[in-house]
Amino acid sequence: MTLVETRLVGGECSYYACMPTKTMLRAAEISATLDRSPGFEPQRPDIERVWWWRDQVTSNWDDTGQLDFLKEKRCNFVRGYGRIVRPGLLEVQDGPELEYDRLVVATGSAPAIPPIDGLDSVDYWTNEDATRTHALPESLAVIGGGPVGAELAQFFARMGSRVTVIEHGPRLLGRVHEDAAAIVEATFREEGIDVRVGADVVRVEPDVRLTLSDGSTVEAEKVLVATGRRPHVQGLGLEDVGVRTTPRGVEVDLRMRAAENVWAIGDVTGISLFTHVGKYQARIAAFDMTGQGHDADYRAIPAATFTDPEVGTVGRTDGDDLVTVRYDITGGRLSTYERPKRDAFLRLFADPKERVLVGAVAVGPEASEWLGQLTLAVRSATPVDMLLDTIQPYPTFSEAILFALIELVGALA
Ligand SMILES: Cc1cc2nc3c(=O)[nH]c(=O)nc-3n(C[C@H](O)[C@H](O)[C@H](O)COP(=O)(O)OP(=O)(O)OC[C@H]3O[C@@H](n4cnc5c(N)ncnc54)[C@H](O)[C@@H]3O)c2cc1C
Repeated sequence: MTLVETRLVGGECSYYACMPTKTMLRAAEISATLDRSPGFEPQRPDIERVWWWRDQVTSNWDDTGQLDFLKEKRCNFVRGYGRIVRPGLLEVQDGPELEYDRLVVATGSAPAIPPIDGLDSVDYWTNEDATRTHALPESLAVIGGGPVGAELAQFFARMGSRVTVIEHGPRLLGRVHEDAAAIVEATFREEGIDVRVGADVVRVEPDVRLTLSDGSTVEAEKVLVATGRRPHVQGLGLEDVGVRTTPRGVEVDLRMRAAENVWAIGDVTGISLFTHVGKYQARIAAFDMTGQGHDADYRAIPAATFTDPEVGTVGRTDGDDLVTVRYDITGGRLSTYERPKRDAFLRLFADPKERVLVGAVAVGPEASEWLGQLTLAVRSATPVDMLLDTIQPYPTFSEAILFALIELVGALA
C-alpha cells in the first residue's frame, strides 16, 4: 500500500480546518465563559499564547508524526503530486511511477473563490491563511456566513477584531434549521459582529473597501473569503480511467466505486464535506475491496457548527411529512452553566408512521456532544417509545432528549 500526498499527511482537517479552528474557538469560548461566570473576572486572551496553543495542535504544520504512523501501519509514502497515466499506472511529479491494482482518490477540496470585481487586488485570506496567521487584524470582513465563515468570524471578534460578515442568503448558516441560525445570528449581533445578510460583495478596492449589492460599504484591514469549497478533480487524469465528475465532485455509487478498480472518498465526492463522513466512506471503500462490503447509509449524518452556542444537527430537519417538536432548555444543566442563561433548545423530527426519529437540531453548550445518541437513534431507527423509556443522566444537556421525547410522543398520538 502506498500513500501519495503532495502537501501534508493528514490533509486540510489537521492543518487548516477542523483542528486549528476548534482550538482557536476553544480559546474564544473560555474567554466568553469567564465573562458569563459569576465570581470570575473577565480576562482578555493573550493572543500570542492562543497562537502557540493552536500551533501545537497543528504540530507547527509538520507531519513527521503522521509519517511515523504510516510506517507503523507498513504503508509506503511518496510525497508529490499524483496523476493517473493510464489504468494501473500513476505518476508522481518529480517522483516515481507507481503501478497499482486498486486506486483510491481522496484529493479533497479547495476554497471556491467567487469572481468578485477587484478581489484579486487585495491580499485576501482563505481558511488556510486564517488558521495559520499570527496576526490579529484590527478589522476583518468575512465573505460568507456558512459554518467556516461563522466560526472564524466569532473567533476573531472575540479576540478583539472588528468583524463584519457578509452573507448572500437571507440568514447566517443557511443550511441549518432556521431556529438554530436565528440564535447564532442574534448572538453575533449581541457580541458586536456586524452581520449583513441578503447582500453580495460586488466590488473590492485595493484599499480594502468592499461595496455591497445593497449600496453599502465595508472597510476592513483584511478580507476572509469563506464562500464554499470546490472538489479537487482537475489535472488528475481521472477521465483516463473512466471516472465521471460533475461540478459537485467525483460520481460514486454507494460502495464508493468511481470506476473499475477506482474508489473515491471524502470531500472530492461532494456528498457531505465533513471529516467524519470521509472516514466513514473510507471504511465503506475498504470493506468493499475485501468483498465484504455494504452500501453507505447517509440517513444520519451528524453536522456540528462550533460557534458559541454550538449547533448540532443530524438527519432530516424539514419535510411536511414529519412531526416536529421543540423543547426549550431552561433548567437542569443550563442553570448550573452560566449567567445570564442563554437560549438553548432541542428540536426533534419524527416519521409518524414508523414512530422513529429521523432528525434533530440542538443548540446550546457543547451541542455537538449531545448529537451522539441522537445520531444513533436516527441511524438505528429505534422506536420513540423505547427512546422514551431510556434513562438519561441528570443534570446533563442530553436530558433534554427525554423532555423533547415526552412532547414528541404527545404530538404523535
Ligand atoms: C475551516 C474549516 C473547518 C472545518 N471544520 C470541520 C470540523 O470541525 N469537522 C468536520 O468534520 N469537518 C470540518 N471541515 C471539513 C473537513 O476539513 C473536510 O471535510 C476534510 O478535510 C476532508 O477530508 P479529505 O481527506 O476528503 O480532503 P482533504 O483534507 O482536503 O485532503 C486531501 C489531500 O489530498 C492532497 N492532494 C490533492 N490532490 C493531490 C494529488 N494529485 N496528489 C497528491 N496529493 C493530493 C491534498 O494536498 C490534501 O492533503 C472544515 C473545513 C474547513 C475549511
